[in-house]
Amino acid sequence: MKIIRKITLGAILALLFIGCTKAPITGRSQLIMINSQQEMALGLQSAKQVLAKERVSRDAQKNAMVKRIGQRIANVTGQSNFKWEFYVIDNDKEANAFCLPGGKVFVYTGLFKYIANDDELAAVMGHEIGHALARHGAERMSRGQLTQAGGQIIQAVMVGQGNPQNTAMVMQSFGIGTQLGLALPHSRTQEYEADHIGLVLAAKAGYNPNSALSFWEKFSKDGKTPPEYLSTHPAPANRIATIRKLIPKIMPLYNQSKR
Ligand SMILES: [Zn+2]
Repeated sequence: MKIIRKITLGAILALLFIGCTKAPITGRSQLIMINSQQEMALGLQSAKQVLAKERVSRDAQKNAMVKRIGQRIANVTGQSNFKWEFYVIDNDKEANAFCLPGGKVFVYTGLFKYIANDDELAAVMGHEIGHALARHGAERMSRGQLTQAGGQIIQAVMVGQGNPQNTAMVMQSFGIGTQLGLALPHSRTQEYEADHIGLVLAAKAGYNPNSALSFWEKFSKDGKTPPEYLSTHPAPANRIATIRKLIPKIMPLYNQSKR
């Protein structure tokens, strides 16, 4: 009986929340049952965990590049509640990057072998920042089986009693983890949306949108993304085709940007 009541309450809450949140740029309606403050607190907590676990790179050039691009993209997000910070993580085996709610951005040194210039890194960082702006982690936590457990997990993590499994789930929702990040992070819808938002952000910040194509072509050629049928991730060919279709709409933003 209790369970039925819980499910009914969950369904009512879900109905109330549907359409209340809209993703930036695409305007897609989202079901998000976690408020921004809770989400940002989880982001900060996760950032601390990442920094405790990983080694921050001292490579001056890579750090300068990530900060320079990140700051320019941050400036065009219009998100004033985020406290932006940009980190390079010293790990050549991880071709990865992510942005946590609240604006903590991490780029792994392993990604740089796919990066030829600022414009290509801007494509990746724009994409990752796009996930955070569109609150994709919170959306994931609010969905499906995560819905019921969500409240308890947030409470547990907030008071620092999160068991490793719960903590892992929160981290996973933000796209952190070994085979996550760029490789297996979000749903297909969220991936296409992050691509779209990322293109707009990078172009407004003065980075050439065509670099998104050259980056994804290199990245997918190396087998970094699984075939579409195996995952919730878009197949590289579809992703590249979708980006290519968007570029004519994005180009005016790039041309108008201050470079
Ligand atoms: Zn993504």
